[in-house]
Amino acid sequence: MTASTPTPASPAPAASEALFERAGRVIPGGVNSPVRAFRAVGGTPRFTASARGPYLTDADGREYVDLICSWGPMILGHAHPDVLAAVRAAAERGFSYGTPTEREVELAEEIVARVGPVEQVRLVSSGTEATMSAVRLARGFTGRPVVVKFAGHYHGHVDSLLASAGSGLATFALPDTPGVTGASAADTLVLPYNDPAALAEVFAAHGERIACVITEAAAGNMGVVPPAPGFTAELRRVTREHGALLITDEVMTGFRVSSAGWWGFEGLGAEHAPDLMTFGKVMGGGFPAAAFGGRADVMAHLAPAGPVYQAGTLSGNPVATAAGLATLRGCTPQVYAAVERAAATVRDAASAALAAEGVPHLVNTAGSMFSVFFTGLDEVRDYDAARQQDLGAFRAFFHAMLERGVHLPPSAYEAWFLSASHDDAALDRVLDALPHAARAAAAGAGSL
Ligand code: PLP
Repeated sequence: MTASTPTPASPAPAASEALFERAGRVIPGGVNSPVRAFRAVGGTPRFTASARGPYLTDADGREYVDLICSWGPMILGHAHPDVLAAVRAAAERGFSYGTPTEREVELAEEIVARVGPVEQVRLVSSGTEATMSAVRLARGFTGRPVVVKFAGHYHGHVDSLLASAGSGLATFALPDTPGVTGASAADTLVLPYNDPAALAEVFAAHGERIACVITEAAAGNMGVVPPAPGFTAELRRVTREHGALLITDEVMTGFRVSSAGWWGFEGLGAEHAPDLMTFGKVMGGGFPAAAFGGRADVMAHLAPAGPVYQAGTLSGNPVATAAGLATLRGCTPQVYAAVERAAATVRDAASAALAAEGVPHLVNTAGSMFSVFFTGLDEVRDYDAARQQDLGAFRAFFHAMLERGVHLPPSAYEAWFLSASHDDAALDRVLDALPHAARAAAAGAGSL
């Protein structure tokens, strides 16, 4: 293969091929979330038929070690027996009531007990809803219009937060999406991440109009880019000085990198507490549950206690809260230790394999979250740097892993997720695949 020819996608198994073709007729692009379509890596997505522990099984019966873990939630592994039992028991009692339940209170109590800055919490059904509601609350509380976000940070598909977002948008290079009005984008200011000078400048110019700064606690949607030392504290200092709220988005990091998320991992004191935080993924245990919470005096502005409207037919759904509670309760210190060990094993082996083949790369970590940048840069601190990747090398690497039964996230801009169920047998399969994939990456370098 010459360096100018993109590596062919791994041959798709017949059932996935047929399903993708069928899906394309009735679902735009054949998927219900863009990154699943494999557009960044080419080829046909594998349609999953079942999942257990660290493995996905596709519609053709092929098994893969799963390094997506549903993009974060499955920290205990798929179909964990305790979560399954909780879900079964909850479903036996009905699926959705539209009345309050004790389990919602229990889940809220679990979150409040774990995450110091959260005094009150409201349950919703997706991370997108959580960030959308938190921004609305910040605007309602402060009476100000402007939200500041960082380039490459993804907070779900909220209109006002889709400017310069990472995730699928990084992959598809759509800096703005049609359908978001100019008015909505005009109240969003986008800054480079990890740049205190840019932050100071924007507050000097617009401080009185800024309702909030929203930041991924540690960015995970442009690849993993943790806050530089002191940056989180600086965000807190500057927002407080100007009477703006600080919203820390822990949808990805929350309950994953520690029992108190990035907040617990970074270990800043109470004086650095954000005003609001958002959660999702792990706290839903694979079901649609998410949350936003924080200072009680700010949360008191939410309806029905206060004037800022927010609601949801399925908010606090009894089956989703059962899955979330069982997952959070299952996240013992041993589980976090197992996830960290598995992540370190994969991360170190991937780096060693790529180095052995002379493939330029950089591994960034945020606790047990990590991603591999296919780049010659020696640091990636922001979106501009994150985008300088050899996508041809990644594509070749991805398909070589897939062919050997390891399913990476199908984009160079995503974190790789491990679970406590990634035991030695699963990890050995990853380690066996890596040298082949590294060779493929070397061959595919510069091809896209
Ligand atoms: N915030 C962050 C940091 C995320 O990573 C995501 C999703 O990946 C979201 C918000 C949106 O969550 P959801 O996909 O549940 O709407």
